Amino acid sequence: MIEKRQFYINGEWVDPVTPNDHKVIDPSTEEPCAVISLGSSADVDKAVAAAKAAFPKWMKTDPAERIAVVEKFLEIYGTKQEEMGKAISMEMGAPIDMAKAQQWGAGFAHTKNFIRAAKNFQFVRPLGDHAPNDRIVYEGYGVCAMITPWNWPMNQVTLKVIAGLIAGCTMVLKPSEESPLNALLFAEMMDEAGVPAGVFNLVNGDGAGVGTALTGHPDVDMVSFTGSTRAGVAISQNAAATLKKVHLELGGKGANVIFADADDKAVKRGVMHMMNNSGQSCNAPSRMLVQRERYDAAVEQAAEAAGKVQVGSAHDEGRHIGPVVNETQFNKIQALIQKGIDEGARLVAGGTGRPDGVNRGYFVKPTIFADANNQMTIAREEIFGPVLTMIPFDTEEEAIEIANDTPYGLTNYVQTTDGERANRVALSLRSGMVEMNGQPRGAGAPFGGMKQSGNGREGGVWGLEDFMEVKAVSGWN
Ligand code: NAD
Repeated sequence: MIEKRQFYINGEWVDPVTPNDHKVIDPSTEEPCAVISLGSSADVDKAVAAAKAAFPKWMKTDPAERIAVVEKFLEIYGTKQEEMGKAISMEMGAPIDMAKAQQWGAGFAHTKNFIRAAKNFQFVRPLGDHAPNDRIVYEGYGVCAMITPWNWPMNQVTLKVIAGLIAGCTMVLKPSEESPLNALLFAEMMDEAGVPAGVFNLVNGDGAGVGTALTGHPDVDMVSFTGSTRAGVAISQNAAATLKKVHLELGGKGANVIFADADDKAVKRGVMHMMNNSGQSCNAPSRMLVQRERYDAAVEQAAEAAGKVQVGSAHDEGRHIGPVVNETQFNKIQALIQKGIDEGARLVAGGTGRPDGVNRGYFVKPTIFADANNQMTIAREEIFGPVLTMIPFDTEEEAIEIANDTPYGLTNYVQTTDGERANRVALSLRSGMVEMNGQPRGAGAPFGGMKQSGNGREGGVWGLEDFMEVKAVSGWN
């Protein structure tokens, strides 16, 4: 069993102030795979003090130097695909091939995109010809608490830490207690890349302990949080007393609007997207809205596609989906599937219980509900499992109304071969992102939500700006 009890503080690996062992469970086997320590407010005090001490110098470092450190990191990260893939796969259950390609790959792509965005970023820029001696200076926001979840761990860690580093911030990362191993590996790479002592720190812990200590700490200037809406509310309240900037990337309940004229693959594509990462993506297209003329055929196609999705151990190679992350999530998903049945939705694939022949591991059957309406619990709550809810609609107006009738506003999807309608619908949807006809967002596009899906944007130039203060200086020489 892996034992990694230390934290990374002020450029060194240090023991926790008070030992507090925590077992990391492999969701494919339900067996412990690692022991880490959960930190306390005393560890947080040390890490925040280190970040605070490092800030004045790092903030004023030439951006080119900060970018160079990140380039060194990327070089190292590029050699760690195997190791990173294994860690993620073991601790959160993404199948190994997927973990190496998509999970590791997301961290690589974000880092590359931030480097590109930063090289084109004017950290000091003129206000305009009308004010020749004015300069607008973009500088690091300060000491940041970076709090990340387990579902796309390297994606989220790089979106925060790499952007923060380039922006000139110093930071304490608290990864999810469910998936600390990938973040510990990331910290080793930060160290190897030569990030100066105190600029990047890592303290493991849970939300109640380290999370609360960080988000209420008087010397933390900004909290960047990705996770559940529930925790986002608690964090905002805790951070309010010291008026921190709080950036939130929260849950979603995306609609995938499929018009009758959508391309042939639209339904299958929507199902596969939903099932990817065992449905544990905040931007999952979890409500499939299908125009009536196409609805019956779409239900059949969706059931068939879900029936073909293989479920298997995260340690096995190949294209399948793995378990969900832990017992709590497994039980929550089972209860929501049962609720869907009880509330009268029609189950056309999957259902409660583990897949046939499986009696260990947090495996969930790829599940499709048809004939649902948007008031049912399975259409309102984020299930965070491989469960798709299908709802029929008649008109474009009705589709938009259903899609927007949710407290969330992260990503929506539109499938139609009518280009004008596609654009019209995209502009009517209240979400931070809209993806049309299976085309993913381009590299460096802003990622983030409206309404209760959060605020602020991550990725690319918008992700850099979120970690910066904007200073107006007049009389510049
Ligand atoms: P979670 O909110 O339980 O935990 C996320 C992180 O916050 C963990 O590190 C946890 O320890 C910490 N935390 C929990 N309560 C806290 C508190 N009161 N104070 C400080 N820290 C606290 O979420 P999760 O179960 O790990 O992740 C799943 C959720 O994340 C889903 O709702 C999903 O939609 C959301 N998510 C959103 C995005 C996005 O970009 N919008 C991306 C991925 C995941």
